[in-house]
Amino acid sequence: MSRIPADFLVENAARLYSMGGGGTSPRRGSELRQVGIFEPGAVAARGGRIVAVGTTESVRDRVQILPGAEVEDAEGHAVIPGLVDPHTHAVFTTARSEEFGRRLVGESYQSIAADGGGIRASVRDFREAREGALVEVTRRRLRAMLRYGTTTVEVKSGYGLSVEAELKALRVLRTLSEEAELPTVVRTCLAAHEFPDEFRDRREDYVDLVLSEILPRIVEEGLAERVDVFCEPGVFTVDQARRVLVRGRELGLRATVHADELEGSGGAALAAEVGADSADHLGCIDEGGIDALSNSSTVAVLLPGTIFSLGLDHWAPARRLIDAGAVVALATDFNPGSNYCESLPLTMSIACTRLGLHPHEVLNMATVNAAHALRLSEEVGSLEVGKRADLVILREATIDGTLHHLGLEAVQATYLGGHRVYLRREG
Ligand SMILES: [Zn+2]
Repeated sequence: MSRIPADFLVENAARLYSMGGGGTSPRRGSELRQVGIFEPGAVAARGGRIVAVGTTESVRDRVQILPGAEVEDAEGHAVIPGLVDPHTHAVFTTARSEEFGRRLVGESYQSIAADGGGIRASVRDFREAREGALVEVTRRRLRAMLRYGTTTVEVKSGYGLSVEAELKALRVLRTLSEEAELPTVVRTCLAAHEFPDEFRDRREDYVDLVLSEILPRIVEEGLAERVDVFCEPGVFTVDQARRVLVRGRELGLRATVHADELEGSGGAALAAEVGADSADHLGCIDEGGIDALSNSSTVAVLLPGTIFSLGLDHWAPARRLIDAGAVVALATDFNPGSNYCESLPLTMSIACTRLGLHPHEVLNMATVNAAHALRLSEEVGSLEVGKRADLVILREATIDGTLHHLGLEAVQATYLGGHRVYLRREG
């Protein structure tokens, strides 16, 4: 039998979580426990694509290692697919850390926002910032994500809130998405993140600007794949959000929604209604919203790091969503205010303890189902033949050990397309 040529091999993993064996569908209900373990495990690739996965012995039997191949011994370590973060706001100037202290001594996120802080403060800074400076600072954040094992990330605009500044944010992301050795970037236009100060008394005019100028310009210049809207009482109403999403869909964009975050908004039902990729947050989702998501392919993306960081207590009803049959995924919501955290492993630990989920469920939520949330499941999210060789060697021998060991630098090495882009220094 002829062997499959390979230019990349990771072998002897104490436990390799392939996440394979589930077909092409997202995982629902009890399927979330399936993680496709091989012990000791190996994965081989050629030209950045996986050609074999299984036990070390079976992979060694099937492949022929080409001269000059990259071969890694992962003895004592777990191997997982590269993590997928389907919701971040990584393009901004600086973190609003002064507000963190104000919140801790009693001010609410909403009252700080009403006082000119929050997203509106980030918008004032962002409009002043040079594009080159934004590229530099955002590149550093994307590199940091590789240290936490994230190999695919969605990033939203939304601190511009004008034609020029929204285009600037998405051009920054386009520049970075063309660079090798950074996570794969999915670009989303969130011009409907908040109402800018100059439109606060004429909100319908801003909605019109988004519909008639911002979205068409972004599509014309090929700057984004998706449109998003912050559907929440006091921000965009369900009616306004629907118009933004429908207009985006008409222009060829896919949709996603910030839904039912701080108060019930009807956003989850709206996301299902317009066939959105995902409805995100869901801390205040009601039974109607759970029903709507359970009967759709719209993924429920949970962001427990934000609730943790805000010191709040209305955790998304993860178990009810899972039991009802919704597709659930996990994201960081990395942003300059309500969650200044780019670490998916830490977010996964919070999901275990505060949402009451098993580490295997959480691993599916941050790989297979997160890839479905970005409609990239044919490329990433599991270690299966034909997919990209994006993978992570963890420091611990299991995912349970990784998520139990809080605050640890969880990742030993990260690979993009069979090429190492991060190696942890010992000591
Ligand atoms: Zn967000």
